[in-house]
Amino acid sequence: MTSLTLATRNPHKTREIQQLLGTSFEVCDLSTLPDLPEIIEDGATFAENAEIKALAVSRAYSGLVVADDSGLEVDAMDGAPGVRSARYAGEKATDQQNIEKLLQELRDCAPSGSDPRAARFRCVMALARDGKFIRTVEGMVAGRVVEASRGTGGFGYDPIFQPDGYDKTFGELAAETKNRISHRARAVQNLRAYLSAF
Ligand code: IMP
Repeated sequence: MTSLTLATRNPHKTREIQQLLGTSFEVCDLSTLPDLPEIIEDGATFAENAEIKALAVSRAYSGLVVADDSGLEVDAMDGAPGVRSARYAGEKATDQQNIEKLLQELRDCAPSGSDPRAARFRCVMALARDGKFIRTVEGMVAGRVVEASRGTGGFGYDPIFQPDGYDKTFGELAAETKNRISHRARAVQNLRAYLSAF
């Protein structure tokens, strides 16, 4: 069994990544490491933030560390909320507040492109070990932002994101379906090749 530490305090990310990696990986996250100081995510890109988080945790704890930095990019909003997805409506914003702000901004902005609501979830995972950054991998899922929240599954922007080829949002789709096609599923798929070396 391979052990790894996830550089996150988001239980939803931990659950999805544990499900995606399967039972041959033993995963813990920062909820079991309460002494670690808060990590300032001031990178300009998902990759920069993922590397910052992976390195900060890896300098404090030995073994394999994986950090997930992810978010929603809306075409008509020039890729926002992007790296600010978690804090879009403010530092301590709830998922509901972030969704409401995004839907309002989207109603306010001029339509552009063939589908003004086109969007994608992007996930960059950074791998580090014993204080050294190893590499990043990426996953992406394309879709659109629907007019109003639908479904209660998942987390974050899941109730307003409908992946291409489906008529349900991630909030309505089964967790197994999200885990087959999501940005995080694709990033984990890409990560597997490198994890097998340890
Ligand atoms: P991070 O913790 O800084 O990477 O911020 C990630 C934020 O992006 C989350 O708080 C959500 O708002 C959003 N996000 C990332 N992945 C997902 C997902 O799978 N579903 C819905 N929202 C997501």
